[in-house]
Formats: sequence, C-alpha cells, structure tokens
Amino acid sequence: MEKRRELLTSMFKSNGVNTGINNDDKYYKQLKIDLDNRIEQLEKLPAMHDVSLKESLKEKGIDRRDFMKWATAACAMLSLPGSFTPLVAKAAELADRLPIIWLHMAECTGCSESLLRSENPSIDSLIFDHISLEYHETLMTASGWQAEQNLENAMEKYKGRYVLMVEGAIPMNNHGEFLTIGGHGKKGVDRANEAASDAAAIFAIGTCSSFGGVQAASPNPTGAVSMSEATGKTVINVPGCPPSEKNIVGTLLHFLLYGTLPALDAYNRPLWAYKRRVHDLCERRGHFDAGEFVEQFGDDGAKEGYCLYKVGCKGPYTFNNCSKNKFNQGTSWPVQAGFGCMGCSEPDFWDTMGVVGEPLKDRLYQTTFGGLGADATADKIGIGLLTLTAVGIAAHATIAAIKPPKE
Ligand code: SF4
Ligand code: SF4
Repeated sequence: MEKRRELLTSMFKSNGVNTGINNDDKYYKQLKIDLDNRIEQLEKLPAMHDVSLKESLKEKGIDRRDFMKWATAACAMLSLPGSFTPLVAKAAELADRLPIIWLHMAECTGCSESLLRSENPSIDSLIFDHISLEYHETLMTASGWQAEQNLENAMEKYKGRYVLMVEGAIPMNNHGEFLTIGGHGKKGVDRANEAASDAAAIFAIGTCSSFGGVQAASPNPTGAVSMSEATGKTVINVPGCPPSEKNIVGTLLHFLLYGTLPALDAYNRPLWAYKRRVHDLCERRGHFDAGEFVEQFGDDGAKEGYCLYKVGCKGPYTFNNCSKNKFNQGTSWPVQAGFGCMGCSEPDFWDTMGVVGEPLKDRLYQTTFGGLGADATADKIGIGLLTLTAVGIAAHATIAAIKPPKE
C-alpha cells in the first residue's frame, strides 16, 4: 500500500498535477497562483453568451448555495483542496470563453444524450449548455450545407484555440467510406483529421471514440478505430458507454483551470476520474470480501444485495468512478440497481469482458499471471493490484462454492 502511494505520488508530481496525495504547502501555494493567473486570462476573453451562468442557474431555480455545493463536490472530484472551491466555481462560470467543436462519428449519440436528457437539468448539464458550442450536429439548428459552412468558419475563426470533443469511432475500411457526413459527403476520417489539426486539445468522449467501442468489436467490418488511432494525435480519453456527466464536465473544467492535459493513465484516461476500479468503492464490496455472492438473478442473495461478481460483474477489472459518482445526478448506478458492471470504460470491452452475466475469473487469472493479454488493466499499479485481486476472486468464488447453502 505504502509502495503504491509512493509510486502514485511520484507519478503525479512528475505530471505537475495535484492529486490530493501531495500535501506540500508550497506546491498548493504555487498551484493557486497558477490557477488564479489562468482564470484572469480567461476573464479577459470575450463572453460568448449573452446570459451568464449565474443568470441561467437562477432561471432554473438553482441558488448560489446549491451552486457552491456543486463546486465543492467538483473540487473534491478533481482532487483539489476545499480552499480551491471558489476557483472551480469561477472556472465553471467562465466556461463560455472556450470555443468547443463537437463532432459525431460512428455512434449512437448516447454520450450527448446522457448529458442533456434530464427532466430537471443538473448543474453539470447547465454548464454544458453554457459552454460555447460552436458546432454540435445534434444541438445546432443549422443543417446541410449551412452546417458544414458553420464548422469550417468555427475552425478558421478559433484556429489553435478550440477544444475538439469527438463522440464515436472512425471507420477506416474502404478508404473511410463507411462514414460520410453532410452535403459534400466528406469522410468521417477526413473531417476528424481536419478538425484535429488545429485543436488546442482533443477529448474523445465515450468508449467509441476512446477505443473504438462496439463498432470496433470483432469482426469490425467497417474497420472502426479510436480518434487517436485515426489521427495519430494525443487524445484525452473519457470512456464509458456513456461516460458520466461528471466525467465529461470535469474534464472540461480541468482544462479550463489548468490549460494543460491532466495526468493520464496508460490508456490516456484522466487519473482523477479513472484511477480506481469500480470495485474499489462499490457498496457491495463488503459482500465480495465476505464471499457472499448472488448466484442467479432473483435469488435470495440478490434480495440481500450481495455481490454480483458471479452473475457477471466486471467491476474488479474496470477503471472508472461510477461507484463513487453514480449517474442521474448521483441517484443510482447499475450495481445499485442490481446489475453488474459490464466493463464499458475498458478498451475492447465488448470482445474482452466475456459473456454478460458470467464471471471472467479463469481467463483473467491466467492472463494476468502471464503478464499479458487483453485483460491487462489500465496502469502498472492496477496490474499489480489486480493480480492479487484475481487470486482473491478465485479464492472467494471457491470458498463460496463449497460453503453449505444458506438456510
Ligand atoms: S464484483 Fe461488482 S458487485 Fe461485487 S463488489 Fe465488485 S464491483 Fe461490486
Ligand atoms: S458501472 Fe461499469 S458498465 Fe456501467 S457505466 Fe460504469 S464502467 Fe460502464
């Protein structure tokens, strides 16, 4: 544990990123100065909305106290000390100073929908409304050639300054012709490359643009690949099917605050969101440790809220913060609702996470011990821990199998 802590601390120090592990006062003082300067620079940029975030929150009946509560939670989520809360609030208010171009590739629009479709808009979704979306095919009113013109204008006007957010995988087979967009029939891969060439930062939103997702599952007839593979650029991956609104808005907030890329894991996922396994903070973890498993859906164990590992939960192999932040404004998440994690934020999860409803234990046990294979987890630290966990999982599953049946 101590070794892991040391390793994490040195990793994050080398990235210049605060993780909450570094308690050095000087570090935070300097960080505060840097972030203050960054906010000052943002304030100088022209506001792109007539209505301020403050006004639109008020209009939706969200008062300042609620907003500051949200900012405190966002501050903790980004592993910043509580004293940075006003800075986080300010960064959110200045979100309309950053031009965003959002492209849709081969996808279902679920990532956008997850953020926007809520009966009572969350603060996260209102901030998303507040950012300067220069181009978003689902949300903009323009269509056809006019829409294409808007995209070209935005890329030209904000050259080198816009953040590119991409949803969906990019088909490469048949010279990219499986995906053509707009009146001129431009190929998805060409559009992705054009937009990527002048972006200040590129975020792949969702598992499809991060890793190819379901589109890239075997036999992958369209040759779908991730945004980073299609463009050869450094891309910050925010995977999930869909990613939570907190991970999308948090990634944006981080960029607003720091103006740099966050500390990333081996799959370019921001560590502040993806450094822990779903399993680590799961509310059913006590049952996992006690060897109490749901054996089949609807049994007594399910009614007791036992661990879902034996009915296919992939939480032990999946790096994401769903068990902490949940979905639908923090009300619930799949495991709370009684269904296991499917591993959606891992690369190639569709091919490598096995059958839905069945555990992975044998294959994971072998491949992890062999030190390779698709199950190798997000970072070296994770691999070490997971090896131990895999032993634990096998042991728990065996113990549970030979335990006498409950009365
Ligand atoms: S295996 Fe799944 S349900 Fe069980 S503790 Fe881990 S994450 Fe939770
Ligand atoms: S619980 Fe698992 S499958 Fe569900 S969103 Fe989180 S990482 Fe994806």
